[in-house]
Amino acid sequence: RAKAEGRNGYRFFSPRMQAQSARALALTNALRRALEREQLTLLYQPQVCLNTGAICGVEALVRWNHPELGAIGPAEFIPIAENSGQIVVIGEWVLRTAVAQLKRWHDQGLPPLTMAVNLSAAQFRHPQLPELIAQLLAGHGLPGDRLELELTENVAIDDPEAAAQIMDRMHAQGVRLSVDDFGTGYSSLSQLKRFRIHRLKIDQSFVRDLGHDGNDRAIVIAIIRMAQALGMRTTAEGVETPAQLAFLREQGCEEAQGYHFAKPMPAAALQEALGRAGRH
Ligand code: C2E
Ligand code: MG
Ligand code: MG
Ligand code: MG
Repeated sequence: RAKAEGRNGYRFFSPRMQAQSARALALTNALRRALEREQLTLLYQPQVCLNTGAICGVEALVRWNHPELGAIGPAEFIPIAENSGQIVVIGEWVLRTAVAQLKRWHDQGLPPLTMAVNLSAAQFRHPQLPELIAQLLAGHGLPGDRLELELTENVAIDDPEAAAQIMDRMHAQGVRLSVDDFGTGYSSLSQLKRFRIHRLKIDQSFVRDLGHDGNDRAIVIAIIRMAQALGMRTTAEGVETPAQLAFLREQGCEEAQGYHFAKPMPAAALQEALGRAGRH
């Protein structure tokens, strides 16, 4: 612990830690202006239905194009946004942008799609969230089940009862909830049973080594069987090879996403991919 290392409670940072925190501080400040300067964009990654091979949904993934620092990924700036309290505003922008895009595709007559949006814990717990979602759906005339909110297991750690109530409110609007990175967090099976979960997303760390790790194969099979028994669906994340896909399909996984199908892409590129798929 830094405090124990220094006398009189002073903290000692290594040059590396100093450089990291200097960057984090610079990013925190730059992030405050990123929205108004229109530096955030969404990419969309197809989610493929394994029965039909059709694109049945997309996941919105945020990107930050910083004029000097270049592209900054969400793995770096989402934690910064969470720590600085900016995640609620950024998350609202993501939701608004994603739902507006879903409406545009709907109006263009593309085959029906689900829009999956990642939510941070603070956003999930924010008292205005159910109202925001209701407003967005009603404003665009979209049914709730076209929107899927991706939560991590950790949203329920502190207060499972409160989490269950928020999920009930979402469920009442028809909105679907999925557990992202399933198997890597802290959910208990008793909670999973109680929560209104539509889908488990099998974390890519279990998918990566399916070819040579018997334990990962066993875990993936167990997740799929458990989801089936609980009336939930499964989506495999990070599918990169035909062999992974074949295994998942054989085991009854319903959906998959990953570089094997497509990387996250701008809306226009996704639209083209959908148009091509639709003409088959
Ligand atoms: P996630 O929701 O689990 O998203 C999956 C991540 O894996 C994405 O990284 C995606 O680009 C990447 N990916 C997809 N297919 C493959 C594959 O075949 N191989 C590999 N190696 N990677 C693949 P990305 O876009 O960098 O996002 C990282 C994380 O940042 C997301 O993980 C999510 O937790 C978070 N995130 C992204 N957008 C948002 C957002 O709008 N709001 C919040 N709160 N979090 C977000
Ligand atoms: Mg996700
Ligand atoms: Mg994930
Ligand atoms: Mg994640």
